[in-house]
Amino acid sequence: MIKQNVQKILVELPNGIELVAAAKTRTPEEILQAVQAGVKIIGANYVQEARRAYEVVGEKAEWHFIGTLQKHNVRRKMVEMFDMIETVDSLEIAKEIDRRCAQIGKVMPILVEINSGREEQKSGVLPEDAEQLVRDVSNLRNIKVMGLMTMGPRLGNPEDARPYFVETRKIFERIKGLDLPNVEMKYLSMGMTTSYKIAIEEGANIVRIGTKIFGERDYGNS
Ligand SMILES: *Cc1c(COP(=O)(O)O)cnc(C)c1O
Repeated sequence: MIKQNVQKILVELPNGIELVAAAKTRTPEEILQAVQAGVKIIGANYVQEARRAYEVVGEKAEWHFIGTLQKHNVRRKMVEMFDMIETVDSLEIAKEIDRRCAQIGKVMPILVEINSGREEQKSGVLPEDAEQLVRDVSNLRNIKVMGLMTMGPRLGNPEDARPYFVETRKIFERIKGLDLPNVEMKYLSMGMTTSYKIAIEEGANIVRIGTKIFGERDYGNS
């Protein structure tokens, strides 16, 4: 099933759109199957889980961190294994990534996560604070801002997600237009199983898909 699911998605995705297989709660074997079917990027929410999968899948795919970031997650092994961190939402976290990356001589590509639904308790920086965060993070030598990411609120109807994608796209274009040094606004990561087609219509060039690849999750959080 995983193989067919991946192939179907890849055939249908327009050119220039990158697929991230959102792999939380999946076994290393399931993730490996997805990679063998053509997935090039794995999205991980939890560092421990990702490291178990990494032992099996290794460098056959790239690894993006898409989970909630806490300072204590940001360790040497973590910055070693990930190729991009999509969920940077504070200068404090960015500084920690920068510090760890400096120790291993790496420049980490990151996306700034936008809390486009302005939901309390949700991660992401508020839309009006995004530009300042990008400016602050751009001063860190071992981090490179490569774009924005958003989740948007969980809604029954995928169409209802559209305004949050539109708003995030506007922020993306505005910051891109500033041409800030050490910032390359290349990626806009938006859209999941139910909403990725809408996200692509609104400018996403990275989509993060879990359920449609691996099936329903029987446990774990969103
Ligand atoms: C789980 C998850 C996804 C994918 O969700 P699905 O609805 O299973 O496609 C995308 N992005 C993030 C950050 C996630 O945690």
